[in-house]
Amino acid sequence: MNNCVFCRIIERKIPAKIVYEDDDVLAFEDINPHAPVHTLIIPKRHISTLLDLTDEDLLICGRMVKAANFIAREKGIAERGFRLVSNCNPEGGQVVYHVHIHLLGGRQLIAPFG
Ligand code: AMP
Ligand code: ZN
Repeated sequence: MNNCVFCRIIERKIPAKIVYEDDDVLAFEDINPHAPVHTLIIPKRHISTLLDLTDEDLLICGRMVKAANFIAREKGIAERGFRLVSNCNPEGGQVVYHVHIHLLGGRQLIAPFG
């Protein structure tokens, strides 16, 4: 996916601060953080939206959540608490059409659903 910014990060064609990687998942710091911890967790396979997930992707979804837990622990916010968010399509606020989970934490998160 040439024109996908997250695929270009996976290919190391544009820079990102990568904090976690395994065979299926990559995580890097959000370029425009909304909290002291704001990390994006993505599948290495290009999947445009949550709606495009198939049974094949179930394991990858689990690995993304596990990676989020790992990063939260690494960053020392696991016990205090954090939030995982995944936006889908325009009214969901999705801007980058490569599935991702936002890991947010490091401050009190308010207004649960914006
Ligand atoms: P969403 O609105 O859920 O699609 O979120 C997309 C997120 O990607 C936003 O929080 C952006 O700040 C972030 N983002 C866009 N481009 C980059 C990039 N090159 N490196 C890191 N984060 C990015
Ligand atoms: Zn992509």
